[in-house]
Amino acid sequence: LLEVSRLTKRFGGLVAVKDISLEIRPGEILGLIGPNGSGKSTVMKLIMGIERPNAGIVKVEGTDVAGWPSHKIARHGVGIVFQHSRPLHRQTVLENIKLALLPDSLVRLFADPEVDGRARAIAERVGLGAVLDRRPATLPFADLRRMELAKAMARDPRIVLVDEPFAGLTSGEVEDFSNLIRSFREEGRAVLLVDHNVKSVSALVDRVKAMYLGEHIAEGTAEEVMRDETVRRVYLGGAITT
Ligand code: ATP
Ligand code: MG
Repeated sequence: LLEVSRLTKRFGGLVAVKDISLEIRPGEILGLIGPNGSGKSTVMKLIMGIERPNAGIVKVEGTDVAGWPSHKIARHGVGIVFQHSRPLHRQTVLENIKLALLPDSLVRLFADPEVDGRARAIAERVGLGAVLDRRPATLPFADLRRMELAKAMARDPRIVLVDEPFAGLTSGEVEDFSNLIRSFREEGRAVLLVDHNVKSVSALVDRVKAMYLGEHIAEGTAEEVMRDETVRRVYLGGAITT
């Protein structure tokens, strides 16, 4: 469903992503792991078309979308949950989700009952049913994260990119978010799940790919990656495995 090959991104002299390849099939969760600055978020932004790669191919269901504008990639079935929320503060939770649901060209459908119904259903699914009319600034942190999840799912993406969804959540909330991500897999979507730590995603992912300073260092099951010599060495024996 998603096939990335030899993706490279430079920022000035810094090679943030070097020759990264990965593949995710429908109904599969791939964990992308690495410490700060490994290039994980950059990989997601390259797939989503928010950054343009210097080299490489991003195939979505066989079509190379590398270099396409982000809105076109979204229309092609890719959704992203950003590491940092960026809500529209003047709009309510429901309005934020509705705007994520509609491409720019269809904003005139904002008041459409069908759009409204879909946005409410997505909000309900991620647990925001009770706060639809609130403004983002008044929400607890976990609900803001739920809203980001709802925005990513609004257009029913076949590929879901989720950047560090668990940071700052309580263990109960982590379990809740994990179950939502599992439900995406059960629906046959392909999920790319970014985290610092192999252990915190090991119960969730089918496979893990580890990066360090922009480069691939290991891939396999969570157990294999945790045992990998290079992973243990570059993560100084535990930064991401404990
Ligand atoms: P974190 O775990 O902190 O989220 P990450 O693995 O997501 O880290 P990236 O955010 O992808 O890492 O950053 C990879 C490298 O690229 C870092 O050195 C970062 O400073 C650099 N970088 C990222 N975006 C830009 C940008 N727009 N301009 C310049 N440098 C950037
Ligand atoms: Mg990041």
